[in-house]
Amino acid sequence: MLTGIRVVFIGGDARQLEVIQKFSELDATVILIGFDNLQNQFSGITKAKLSSELLKTADVIILPPVGTDDAGIVESIFTSEELRLVEEHIASLPKHAKVYTGMAKAHLKQMCAKYAIRLVELFERDDVAIYNSIPTAEGALMMAIQNTDITIHGSVCMVLGFGRTGMTMARTLQGLGAKVLVGVRRAEHFARAKEMGFTPFYTEEIIENVYYIDLLFNTIPTMIITAQVIANIPHRAVIIDLASKPGGTDFRFAEKRGIKALLAPGLPGIVAPKTAGRIIADTLSQLIMEDGITGRNRE
Ligand code: NAP
Repeated sequence: MLTGIRVVFIGGDARQLEVIQKFSELDATVILIGFDNLQNQFSGITKAKLSSELLKTADVIILPPVGTDDAGIVESIFTSEELRLVEEHIASLPKHAKVYTGMAKAHLKQMCAKYAIRLVELFERDDVAIYNSIPTAEGALMMAIQNTDITIHGSVCMVLGFGRTGMTMARTLQGLGAKVLVGVRRAEHFARAKEMGFTPFYTEEIIENVYYIDLLFNTIPTMIITAQVIANIPHRAVIIDLASKPGGTDFRFAEKRGIKALLAPGLPGIVAPKTAGRIIADTLSQLIMEDGITGRNRE
């Protein structure tokens, strides 16, 4: 249980509702900032404005999956007011307080480092990335179905990268009856991909492998689907780039060649906000209980 712990939520989207509910069930003292338009009535929860006075009393700060932008702005779909986290806010946090987010930009990292406030990035954790790969693969599949006139079954799909997202993507496609080629750069990934029934190849040989593909899913966060690669892809093929912005595709050249190429960021939050929220809620609550933060630290 989280009885006596003051948890301050600052901004967020539909995913955060699952987290709020979980913390409320665990008996934390929950304070919401940037949720003025929230219709959902959680019992025993207080809404407040962002202020250093309030943050002084916090044990835990929970920011949305993308913490803040480079100017400290926190996105919230539940308010029309601007939420800006500034140095003064971080400076006011008690020393035992911890800030949790999905991933943090340099600005937030610098502010927390300056005032020795511990910052935890959930999406860096393997377990969270693996759980998140499930709604990501389902979202990518949805986009593939919407943007092709063939079935996934019987199609030739290529997945680039065999990490947490790539492996789930490849298995999901295989489960639907696609022939799946997997682009890797490590011998052990080559071996594992082969063992799992995929057709592996090394990414330096990508051009030789793209001639017959129908769908290309990229999870490698660097320029990999270059103009030269695109020049060898059949016109019918669709590229779905899952890697974080700006993706790994030469989108300009794809457009010039008339090949459909889509950058698809943030799929878990779009296609399955409830599941994505539960993944965050379960991990966060577990982490905070393990961290042994208690309200007593405040005194
Ligand atoms: P990951 O586990 O680190 O996997 C990345 C894979 O790419 C690894 O297999 C890695 O190989 C490979 N790779 C990296 N650079 C490469 C290169 N230059 N050449 C060949 N292979 C290379 O990461 P992940 O969790 O799967 O995430 C992958 C990307 O998807 C990230 O950009 C992440 O932000 C994004 N993502 C997007 C969504 C969405 O909704 N669109 C959701 C989740 C994640 P090694 O193992 O050899 O390093």
